[in-house]
Amino acid sequence: MYKITLIPGDGIGPEITEAMKTVVESTGVDIEWQEFAAGEETLATDNTPLPDRVLDSIRQNKVAIKGPITTPVGSGFRSVNVSLRKELDLYTCLRPTKTVPGIVTPFKNVDLVIVRENTEDLYAGIERMIDDDTAESIKIITRKASERIAKFAFEYATKYGRKKVTSVTKANIMKYTDGLFFEASREIARRYPDIEYEERLVDNMCMQLVMKPELYDIILTENLYGDILSDLCAGLIGGLGIAPGANIGDDIAVFEPIHGSAPKYAGMQKVNPTALILSAALMLKHLGEIEAGEKVESAVHKIISEGKTVTYDLGGSATTQQMAEAIASQV
Ligand code: NAD
Repeated sequence: MYKITLIPGDGIGPEITEAMKTVVESTGVDIEWQEFAAGEETLATDNTPLPDRVLDSIRQNKVAIKGPITTPVGSGFRSVNVSLRKELDLYTCLRPTKTVPGIVTPFKNVDLVIVRENTEDLYAGIERMIDDDTAESIKIITRKASERIAKFAFEYATKYGRKKVTSVTKANIMKYTDGLFFEASREIARRYPDIEYEERLVDNMCMQLVMKPELYDIILTENLYGDILSDLCAGLIGGLGIAPGANIGDDIAVFEPIHGSAPKYAGMQKVNPTALILSAALMLKHLGEIEAGEKVESAVHKIISEGKTVTYDLGGSATTQQMAEAIASQV
């Protein structure tokens, strides 16, 4: 039996979490969910959106899955997501983006994996007001973190038979920070002669991705560029509702969808549970339950390509839970 820390999260989090559990339970994999509140609820009860008991549970179980958590704008609290990644040293943000059969978009045969550095860059949170009218944010890039993420990208490519790694920055402008990231990527690339390595500037990368996404394989990048490129790539395959993700460290992994808590849809049973369900499929594979993970993925693809029991964003009228139940029956 696997013990998994479960954080339903805010907004649409609880309803997509129920949907995800329905599907995971249909696989027969024996999981004990250890559920914890975090976010708006614990901000009210514990005066923190991320109580220590949540971190302790993840450290103990080594695997967690979470719904989205609202970041209160300008409240002084850091994003829970950023804190989790930093506290647990989940230095890789992994975002596979693959064309889903049945979802019609102008982009065909997309099969990209974004490997985003998760712990530094402008997300290090080193910000201050210099005076009333001037704000400053400091971008930190280290060789150690850059080499570590590059190594993850090349190891992932080796493990999953991928052919090419494209490192992405804006090194023509940020010559020191982004220059260092490229230098570290190149250094690691030299150790993997069988995997093609190339570099792109992030603005050009955005254009390339919407013109010819099929040319790209693994995209290795810093925190901010990775955040933006992930949403762009989610758009290529049909939107945030279907894009899964994982935050991975050396021995802990936290799975979550790319999308946020979409507060305007909270409690309406309207949103698409697929992103969290596919994040759970990644989790099952991470646990070694490869067949169960693949079954969930094919069931999702089947239900979406049939198009009968899908949510509003995919042109249907099913509720969140109805879509999950259809996927579970297929599993
Ligand atoms: P969002 O992803 O919550 O929503 C943007 C829009 O995307 C929604 O209005 C909706 O139209 C669509 N969408 C999102 N999820 C969907 C789904 N499952 N099915 C169908 N459509 C979906 O982004 P936002 O409005 O920028 O952020 C809302 C809150 O979420 C903010 O507080 C933000 O900080 C937080 N957030 C959290 C995470 C996380 O927990 N990892 C990630 C991103 C944003």
